[in-house]
Amino acid sequence: MSERNCRFIFITGGVVSSLGKGITAASIALLLKQRGYRVTLQKLDPYLNVDPGTMSPYQHGEVYVTDDGTETDLDLGHYERFAGVSCNRNSNYTAGKIYSAVIARERRGGYLGRTVQVIPHVTDEIKKAVISQAEEGVEIAITELGGTAGDIEGLPFLEAIRELGLELGRENVLYIHLTLIPYLSASRELKTKPSQQSASILRNIGIIPDILICRTEMSLQEEHFIKLSMFCNVPREAVVEERDVENSIYEVPVELAEQKLDELILDRLGLPLSELDLSDWKEMLRRAVSPSGSAVRIGVTGKYMGLRDAYKSIFEAITHGGIAADVPLELIGIESEDLEGGDTSRLEGLDGILVPGGFGYRGIEGKMAAVRYARENDIPFLGICLGMQCAVIETARHLAGLEGANSSEFDPDTPYPVIHLMDSQKDVTDKGGTMRLGLYPCELRSGSLAGSVYGTGSVSERHRHRYEFNNEYREILRDAGLLISGLSPDGELVEIVERPGHRWFVACQFHPEFTSGPLKPNPLFREFIAAAGKRSLERHS
Ligand code: GLN
Repeated sequence: MSERNCRFIFITGGVVSSLGKGITAASIALLLKQRGYRVTLQKLDPYLNVDPGTMSPYQHGEVYVTDDGTETDLDLGHYERFAGVSCNRNSNYTAGKIYSAVIARERRGGYLGRTVQVIPHVTDEIKKAVISQAEEGVEIAITELGGTAGDIEGLPFLEAIRELGLELGRENVLYIHLTLIPYLSASRELKTKPSQQSASILRNIGIIPDILICRTEMSLQEEHFIKLSMFCNVPREAVVEERDVENSIYEVPVELAEQKLDELILDRLGLPLSELDLSDWKEMLRRAVSPSGSAVRIGVTGKYMGLRDAYKSIFEAITHGGIAADVPLELIGIESEDLEGGDTSRLEGLDGILVPGGFGYRGIEGKMAAVRYARENDIPFLGICLGMQCAVIETARHLAGLEGANSSEFDPDTPYPVIHLMDSQKDVTDKGGTMRLGLYPCELRSGSLAGSVYGTGSVSERHRHRYEFNNEYREILRDAGLLISGLSPDGELVEIVERPGHRWFVACQFHPEFTSGPLKPNPLFREFIAAAGKRSLERHS
């Protein structure tokens, strides 16, 4: 480990959650990277689940999967999309993961008869987790602490990062506190008091922030900066404003660069100020904010549509497709249960339909109706994971004459289990971290749409599933017009299906949304939106 050569930045949150700490951390990483530094990003979550893999989307939003198959917090998606860093199992630690390691060590006798305590044993484990990012060559390691200053469960984490300031040398460590300056419309005032109190919570534990970033709807005035500086004990020039952005989250790094936040950070860390190159990012932003052409309407059918965080990477990846095609997008979330009574009017006028991943029976028949509508009306269709499984079931039921076909996940007694549990899953009983997870290669059939979309013979994409295409039905489904265009290298697992003759119909068992970024859209999303763009042009001509 080379923590000696590495600088550490800790980002804490104050006043409320959902301040956009993840986006701010990711933006800082992008700016430092574009100044030539090698940066890593990590999230510490003080809850007791070992990872978010077993949590409901209502609790946690999307579960983001890394190359190495770790099920992680959705902020890691921002880290990878903004800063292009590659996250792994060291990039997300929860209190559950920390405590599991401590307790397992205690059972092994690893504490040599000592009483095992939050301080120093849990805090030591947290410190190890932070240091684990600082692999050879990493110059700046950024750690975002989940939750809000003052949360009881966050205390050991704050204690650990305080101790790290001492151990690694205060000059190598930077504490950034992201806080909210609320605007009271009744009195038309911005209020600094909650932030003063939040900084004082940190002070109680021994952390004085080096930089205060203030999330605000309105511009702060000099009086606010002075007050915040004095009461939070942060120099005036280190109180930085982060205004709400209007159009795209990808504006945040540019806004922060205008506030010279990156210069301040490098100055405080004693690192040289190399040049900042944001030219590609700004060109991307132009397309994101003011695209040309007429709106392309994309419908996404899922069962948590009121909760956009549940499909965070999906919506981001669609946006990336829009940026690549330079078209404005209208994203329409459709509750799949609303399609179950036979009324498909909500699908009318769409230029593309996407059925994303999911678990459990609720809303499945609506997703099937969406697949059918896309197929019958020649609308560009992208199915992802469960969306692919629905596409297979739909073909089985309506084109192959397999009435009652289903996935054994939803109907264990189906006469035609065209989707069934993978062999490798049959003896699995634990729910956490046991799916087929992470990057697996897939061979693409030459001459297929998938082959031309990727422009190569083989790809690796990230997975998160237990069920698979049942190979007994390959032939009958092929005769019903479904082309298998992607297979695992041993030929056993169906990874992609498509429908020749349809203008654009691709469904994959993996999650291409996890590898998509604004500067490098995943090819499936790029081409899906391009096909939807063509349909939109036809609709408008
Ligand atoms: N529930 C399905 C399975 O486990 C699909 C999973 C998903 O969409 N991520 O195979």
